Amino acid sequence: MARATTSTVAALCFLLSCVSATPSTLAASSAIIHDIIRGLADTTAARVRTDAEATARASTDFGTNATADDAARPAAVFYPSCAADIAALLRASSASASPFPVSARGRGHSTRGQATAPGGVVVDMASLAVAAGRDETATTNASSTSASARLAVSVDGRYIDAGGEQLWVDVLHAALAHGLTPRSWTDYLRLTVGGTLSNAGISGQAFRHGPQISNVLELDVVTGTGDMVTCSKEKDADLFDAVLGGLGQFGIITRARIPLAPAPARARWLRLLYTGAADLTADQERLIADDERRGGALAGLMDYVEGSVVTDLQQGLIGSWRSQPPPSSSSFYSATDAARIAALAEEAGGVLYFLEGAVYYGGASDTTAADVDKRVDVMLRELRYARGFAYVQDVSYEQFLDRVSAGERRLRGEGLWDVPHPWLNLFLPRSRILDFAAGVFHGVLLPTRTAGGGGGGPVLVYPMNRGKWDGATSAVLPYDDGDGDGDEVFYTVGILRSAVADGDLRRMEEQNAEVARFCEAAGIPCTQYLPSYATQADWAARHFGPAGSGRWDTFLRRKRKYDPMAILSRGQRIFSSPLLAS
Ligand SMILES: Cc1cc2nc3c(=O)[nH]c(=O)nc-3n(C[C@H](O)[C@H](O)[C@H](O)COP(=O)(O)OP(=O)(O)OC[C@H]3O[C@@H](n4cnc5c(N)ncnc54)[C@H](O)[C@@H]3O)c2cc1C
Repeated sequence: MARATTSTVAALCFLLSCVSATPSTLAASSAIIHDIIRGLADTTAARVRTDAEATARASTDFGTNATADDAARPAAVFYPSCAADIAALLRASSASASPFPVSARGRGHSTRGQATAPGGVVVDMASLAVAAGRDETATTNASSTSASARLAVSVDGRYIDAGGEQLWVDVLHAALAHGLTPRSWTDYLRLTVGGTLSNAGISGQAFRHGPQISNVLELDVVTGTGDMVTCSKEKDADLFDAVLGGLGQFGIITRARIPLAPAPARARWLRLLYTGAADLTADQERLIADDERRGGALAGLMDYVEGSVVTDLQQGLIGSWRSQPPPSSSSFYSATDAARIAALAEEAGGVLYFLEGAVYYGGASDTTAADVDKRVDVMLRELRYARGFAYVQDVSYEQFLDRVSAGERRLRGEGLWDVPHPWLNLFLPRSRILDFAAGVFHGVLLPTRTAGGGGGGPVLVYPMNRGKWDGATSAVLPYDDGDGDGDEVFYTVGILRSAVADGDLRRMEEQNAEVARFCEAAGIPCTQYLPSYATQADWAARHFGPAGSGRWDTFLRRKRKYDPMAILSRGQRIFSSPLLAS
């Protein structure tokens, strides 16, 4: 069965050479943009900045953490007070003789310039919350409101209305105040609602509830033409589906209605060590199964399933920040455990696999502590981890969900947060995950360690159920040839490295290219998550391909409809000039 191997994998190489933004030849000059947005500042409540400090900040992101070159900088930063200000900006650009790029910036956690607007205007989304905080007349349409004017929980409706600029950690706190919680998360919670919904929003709960984009009831969107639309599966469904996973191409999300469920109080957090990828992935797949046929006694026992691979135990904090222990303990392991783990790694040839899981209980959930004890007994008996290497913690549900913040605080304290992050995230078909593990974890990453090159960060590996993703959204999954070979499960691999020392960045980008070459040679089809390509042709062929899948045609049709002047999120480098009507 033909697969999209060559094109999708070769595209990864572009990550290395094409990080700088391409300025649009059609964008208005800075002087014209300054005139237009100063006019908007006079006629709306928005603020505007054109100074070097503001534009430099708006053109950096978590990937580069460096001031971008002049071509990548916006001409101005726009601080809206409400959605109508954003609509006015987009209408002004659309109506201009030379439409200029406009990009929403959540918190700039992108790693390849996706939230920038080269030569155009960056919309600082955080300013919506700041303005709402100042506006005592701010109201929402929900039945009861939480502390923030742009976070409103409806207890009866079991949903939260969240401004697109809101951080997921604040969504969590607002919902928990009512004994409720969203069901699908990212591992890190200081990301914005609009930012993750523009990608997918994935974590260890996605196997059961789908990504965050599968957990949205309604959106307020300002389209590229400046129209303010409330959309859902029932109303303007095409726009709703386009925006979810839409990489910011079709509209700016100013509000999302997220469904809520009764919140558990606690999480039993398990970490189990494996000496091989085959056992780890077989166990992960049994745990994420939704029936006994696929999962046996383990089906559905965990609420959260992730995993990781460690090729260098010496990395310390830079390798473990993403899964820190609860504040009450300084480490998941004792010093004796650490020594035993090091010996196990040695025996296993230098590569260890970790299964990370959690069972939620108590609070408003139906699961009791006694249920969890029973489940953990079954798991410790049935799972094929290295015996004697099971570690269990009991933490609050909130501590578990917000566990990455402890790592962030520690990295910031050591000056290791604001460094370049040449991250590579891939979706892979289940049928090739072991080939990938052999070629990449053992073949590419391990030799770097043994050559003394460091490793530089966590490497995640965990499966998801394809059926929990909505194929109508703009998100792209690994190519499914429909041959029934079991690829209803697919894997996420996140190689999440930090470049700390001189030469790290170059070496890591070279390794990313080596991963691409390996996949290419081995015929492993992969799709980038949080994708980055250099040209429209690459996007069409390599991300939305294979030819005939129709995904690119749908993306293009929607772009033509909702942002025909190709104003939005030019930092993604998908469209650089207005689309001709067809
Ligand atoms: C430390 C860290 C941990 C992460 N962990 C996870 C994880 O566990 N799971 C996961 O799925 N991802 C994860 N990510 C990736 C994250 O989802 C992306 O960085 C995403 O872009 C969100 O970041 P942001 O909110 O700052 O958005 P930005 O980076 O500011 O924007 C991302 C894109 O969305 C567009 N955009 C932003 N806001 C809006 C809006 N309101 N409406 C329309 N378009 C908009 C921007 O123009 C840009 O194209 C992580 C990132 C970091 C840095």
